[in-house]
Amino acid sequence: MCERPTLTPAAGEILVEVAACGVCRTDLHVVDGELPNPKLPIVPGHEIVGRVAAIGEGVGGFVIGQRVGVPWLGYTCGKCAFCRAGRENLCDAPLFTGYTRDGGFATHAIADARYCFALGDRGDDAEIAPFLCAGLIGWRSYRIAGAARGVGDNKVGTQALGLYGFGAAAHILAQVAAWQGHRVYAFTRAGDAAAQAFARSLGAVWAGASEETPPEPLDAAIIFAPVGAIVPLALAAVKKGGRVVCGGIHMSDIPGFPYRLLWEERELVSVANLTRDDAKEFLRVAPQAGIKTQITRYPLARANAALSDLRSGRLQGAAVLIP
Ligand SMILES: [Zn+2]
Ligand SMILES: [Zn+2]
Repeated sequence: MCERPTLTPAAGEILVEVAACGVCRTDLHVVDGELPNPKLPIVPGHEIVGRVAAIGEGVGGFVIGQRVGVPWLGYTCGKCAFCRAGRENLCDAPLFTGYTRDGGFATHAIADARYCFALGDRGDDAEIAPFLCAGLIGWRSYRIAGAARGVGDNKVGTQALGLYGFGAAAHILAQVAAWQGHRVYAFTRAGDAAAQAFARSLGAVWAGASEETPPEPLDAAIIFAPVGAIVPLALAAVKKGGRVVCGGIHMSDIPGFPYRLLWEERELVSVANLTRDDAKEFLRVAPQAGIKTQITRYPLARANAALSDLRSGRLQGAAVLIP
C-alpha cells in the first residue's frame, strides 16, 4: 500500500472512487512480469466498480455520484486499420487498465470516460465487479465460439459447449449459456470435486477432468485455463467443424499434436481484449440472464493474499478487493 497524491481528471477523463475491484488472472500475469512493457510502477486491476468523483473537461454523459464500470480496454487510437474496421480490441496503440495505465487496486482511479460504462444501481458493487473482465472476455469468447456453430445465439438451437478451467470467467459464462438453452460441459483440474460440483450447481449438465472425454462431442470449446496442454484435449473433444477458442491472454506452451485433431475443419482461435460493443451487449444480457457471481471479498490491503489464492486455485468464483 502506498499514499499517492489526489488525482485530478484531465480533459476527457473521470475520477472514479473505487467501491470494488475484481482480481483477474491477467493481474497475476502483470505482477509476474509475463506481459511485455507494462507501465511501471503500475496499479493493477481492471474490473473496477465505483462512483464518479470528478469529471474532466469535455466529458458528457456522466454525473457525479453515478455508478460506473471501468474495464480492461482503457483507450484505443480510433485511427489505425483495426479501429477503423470495428476491431478496436486489436488497436495498434491501445492502453489497458491496470497494465499500461493505472487500474483499480486503489481507492481512486482515473479513466478515459469513453471507455467507462454506466452500471445502473441494480446489484451489489462487489458482486458485479467480475462482469468487467471475466464477464466481458467470457462473452466475447462465447460469441466467437458460436460464430461457426450457433453457440452464443439462442436462435440456432441448443449446442454442446465445453468450458475448460472453471474460474471467474467460466462461472459467469456457464450461467449465460445454460440460460440460453445450451448444454454446458465443465472441465476442471483432475480430482477437483468442489469445482465440478460448483459447475453443476450453475447449470453445467456434466463436469469432469480436462483429460476426460465428454459424453457427447462438443460443438465448441472455450479454454480459460492458462494451460497449453489443454489445447489438443479440447480439439479432440470437438466434433467436425468445431471451434476451440483460447480466452486467456497468456498460456503455457502448446504441446505437439497429430494433425488429425485439427482435420475436418476444426478451428483453433484466440480472443484478445474486448470492444466497447462487447461490453454494452454483455451488460445488457447479464441482468436478463440473472447471473449470480460467487465472490470472495478481500480488503485492499490484502491484495497479495487474493493474488496468491487465485494462483493456487484455492478460490471458487472470483476474488474482489474492497478499498
Ligand atoms: Zn482480466
Ligand atoms: Zn487503433
